[in-house]
Amino acid sequence: MLTRLTERHFPSIIPPTTKAKPTNRCVLCAERKKRKESRYWCPESRTGLCPAPCSGIYHTKA
Ligand SMILES: [Zn+2]
Ligand SMILES: [Zn+2]
Repeated sequence: MLTRLTERHFPSIIPPTTKAKPTNRCVLCAERKKRKESRYWCPESRTGLCPAPCSGIYHTKA
């Protein structure tokens, strides 16, 4: 089993920091050369992700 599947990973809104609108670049979209900024990330993976479908793909692919 992949730990990414067994652990609890849910995308959550990036907590506000010094930036008014904190965003992360979605790693999956970045791989596909899509410049997508997401307001969500996975705190467990510390990775910027779109809530759907990228989070699901990221956490289920090998
Ligand atoms: Zn994760
Ligand atoms: Zn994405």
